Amino acid sequence: MTDVIIPQPQPGIMDITPYAGGESKVPGVDRVIKLSSNEGALGASPRAREAMARSVLEAHRYPDGNSAALRIAIGEAQGLDPDRIVCGAGSDELIGLLCRAYAGPGDTIVQTAHGFLMYAIYAKSCGVEAILAPERDKTADVDAILASVQPNTRLVFLANPNNPTGTYIAHDEVIRLREGLRDDIILVLDAAYAEFVLRNDYDPGAALVDSHPNTVMLRTFSKIYGLGGVRLGWAYGPAHIIDVLNRVRSPFNVSAPAQAAGEVAIGDQTFLDLSRSHNTHWLDWTQAKARSLGLSVTDSVCNFALITFEAQGRRTAAKADAFLRSRGVIVRRVAGYSLPDSIRLSIGRDDDMELAMGTLAEFMETGGAT
Ligand SMILES: *Cc1c(COP(=O)(O)O)cnc(C)c1O
Repeated sequence: MTDVIIPQPQPGIMDITPYAGGESKVPGVDRVIKLSSNEGALGASPRAREAMARSVLEAHRYPDGNSAALRIAIGEAQGLDPDRIVCGAGSDELIGLLCRAYAGPGDTIVQTAHGFLMYAIYAKSCGVEAILAPERDKTADVDAILASVQPNTRLVFLANPNNPTGTYIAHDEVIRLREGLRDDIILVLDAAYAEFVLRNDYDPGAALVDSHPNTVMLRTFSKIYGLGGVRLGWAYGPAHIIDVLNRVRSPFNVSAPAQAAGEVAIGDQTFLDLSRSHNTHWLDWTQAKARSLGLSVTDSVCNFALITFEAQGRRTAAKADAFLRSRGVIVRRVAGYSLPDSIRLSIGRDDDMELAMGTLAEFMETGGAT
């Protein structure tokens, strides 16, 4: 037998475990409640949906390669300079571009132990190793992050607040992190859930970007804006980093429907207020309900709850997941985030939450025996 020679990918790529998104189907179950991807509970704003419908009439036209009108709308809504914004096909794309542009084989990035998985995935795709800094109480630990930094570290990714833990660190801690990092290291503040956070000591990071030539803030339309399906996110950074991202991105990376939707969604304050108050109410309710069942809940400031089954004997996260699924309720297991005994449950509509938590209560009562 002769050895077959096949083309080999770049180093690091075969180390990637492909990202598995939240599932949306259960075989044999008609009505599924999907609480596995932190999607906006109320869908997209009606105004954004109308804008997308209108853009379909121009589907044969290439989109604006610079997302100019969208960047102006974001700048206006957020009080930021549109020239220092770059839009992407989800903030995921921008995470990937930052890794590709600023790190390469032999380099490292640092993220936290239960931090968002996409940082490590994109790092590996560039031959870059991801170092995991330990967390304290499922919360980023600035001292541990600083201690994890190596001479070859190029970027530090901090999801603030973090998915899947739902925890955040206060703005003065973020400042302490920035001050403790070398100036040649980019600090990426991923504020995907910023719009949900109602804490006075929280800040998504725009001011820190303004005062530092090495700090970037990432935002997404996939969560509170309910636009995960059209893929839209943005980065705000110093002019020289925005220039680099504009060189490496594809020329038409944001579709026309996404641009049209984002342009109106960013200013739809009524929809944002509604979504936020819906979330606050049902997050509190869900966390209290889980605690009343004897489960351990990590205090979340996002649109999901992290529920842990520790010390519940035979009632494990895996069994809870299977039971919920058999009833058509899809939540997210988070073993891939080193949280094998937890589930993450997104906040959905009123009746979804009542049904999901009712089913979880039944599981805790019966242990899933039917
Ligand atoms: C959902 C999420 C994102 C980005 O999602 P996109 O859909 O790619 O914009 C980024 N970071 C975190 C922490 C997330 O949870």
